[in-house]
Amino acid sequence: MSSSTLRSWGRYPYAPQIAEPLAWRDAMRTQLADAHARLGSTLAFGNGRSYGDSCLAATDHVLTTRGLARFISADWTRGVLRAEAGVTLGEILALALPRGWMLPVTPGTQYATLGGAVANDVHGKNHHVRGTFGRHVLRLSLLRSDRAPLECTPDEETALFRATVGGLGLTGIIEWVELQLMPVRSSHIAVTRLRYGNLDEFLALSHGHDASNEYGVAWVDCLARGAALGRGIYTSGNHALDGDFSSPARRARGVPFVLPVTPVNRFTVAAFNELYFRRQKPGIEHARMDAASFFYPLDNLRNWNRIYGRRGFQQHQCVIPDAQARDALHAILKAISTGGNGSFLAVLKRCGGLESPGLLSFPMRGVSLALDFPQNEARNTRLFAHIDAIVAEAGGRQYPAKDAHMSGKDFRAAYPAWQELERLRDPALMSRFWKRTTQT
Ligand SMILES: Cc1cc2nc3c(=O)[nH]c(=O)nc-3n(C[C@H](O)[C@H](O)[C@H](O)COP(=O)(O)OP(=O)(O)OC[C@H]3O[C@@H](n4cnc5c(N)ncnc54)[C@H](O)[C@@H]3O)c2cc1C
Repeated sequence: MSSSTLRSWGRYPYAPQIAEPLAWRDAMRTQLADAHARLGSTLAFGNGRSYGDSCLAATDHVLTTRGLARFISADWTRGVLRAEAGVTLGEILALALPRGWMLPVTPGTQYATLGGAVANDVHGKNHHVRGTFGRHVLRLSLLRSDRAPLECTPDEETALFRATVGGLGLTGIIEWVELQLMPVRSSHIAVTRLRYGNLDEFLALSHGHDASNEYGVAWVDCLARGAALGRGIYTSGNHALDGDFSSPARRARGVPFVLPVTPVNRFTVAAFNELYFRRQKPGIEHARMDAASFFYPLDNLRNWNRIYGRRGFQQHQCVIPDAQARDALHAILKAISTGGNGSFLAVLKRCGGLESPGLLSFPMRGVSLALDFPQNEARNTRLFAHIDAIVAEAGGRQYPAKDAHMSGKDFRAAYPAWQELERLRDPALMSRFWKRTTQT
């Protein structure tokens, strides 16, 4: 066991985790039983790309899965891949893309592991056509403390399968996952980009364009006000058809240490947003992008979360049902721009109506808004209480993978299936998030 500085991505709450590495599948059962007996509970930890406390153990002791990083089998005629849960999405792409197979769903970071992608049932820029990650999981192997290891599919051990997809790591430790990949004819994306003037324009654009594009997402200027409220840059794209699977070599830069004071404040954000918005010329721009630049622009700057300084930051991500989306998002963006405390990383995305098999999956048909806030206890508490009330009133919900503040009341109301997950929870597993939202 090693003492470590493992944290969640937002570096808030401040709760460094003690890491015990998992490396071999045949040793995991003993390790889980041992942690259960010694500590009462533990939690699987993938790569810590969840922002808040859903990847932090209630005991602050985690079983890290990055050592479980072996590919088990691949059928390149059908695009079916089986890999251990600690393999990252980037490692899968490095293997699969040159062979013409793409992850059917990918979040905005390639550093998420397979286990983490299942446990949060992650979504990507193509939710409107592919739904969540869990829809593409064919089979998974689950290790529990209270029974022999078992395999779950949508048709076998269905209850556990549905609870494990989006199950926040609480139903057992996922040993491996079998995934259906998506055939593509190029690793490059033919991209269309245009700037739009306000929230209504975004809603109209995404409504019109998303249907004919695999991918669709918008950057939003969270500090724009008045008639420009919600203005931003809308990007849509499709895999190119020209058979080019090359990927340019890139040198990743990084933030070498945690900045003592964060440069992210209302003045720097306002200046950045204005420049970024104006840099996009009026009219439609067509471009071609390699996969890493299109899907994972933030991964280009390693440890970018250190920019937020020692206090860290919180991300607030919510989804609002279509019928309420305009009014609720208007009210949320107004609260943020008036408070003047958002960051330049702000994303609007339309989610589709494809059902996830996951009991506690986050997306629903509607519009999702995600925004980072430098950690400031008093300011965030006030603002989030306001935003959360709007989300709840509109029948929306917040994303546990990003959360460090949601009240138990809001969580339980937005995810009524939580009791079913609690019934199927492995008694050896408990996160800070689950304790905070279901036991208080
Ligand atoms: C830059 C950035 C962009 C992002 N963009 C998106 C996005 O577009 N869409 C989206 O949905 N999410 C997005 N995320 C969130 C991220 O994809 C998820 O939080 C993902 O689950 C992180 O995976 P991880 O391997 O780091 O898991 P961790 O964060 O370490 O853990 C996440 C959960 O998975 C569980 N878990 C991990 N491994 C296992 C296992 N083997 N068995 C059982 N449970 C396990 C943990 O217990 C925890 O509950 C983004 C994150 C970042 C940093």
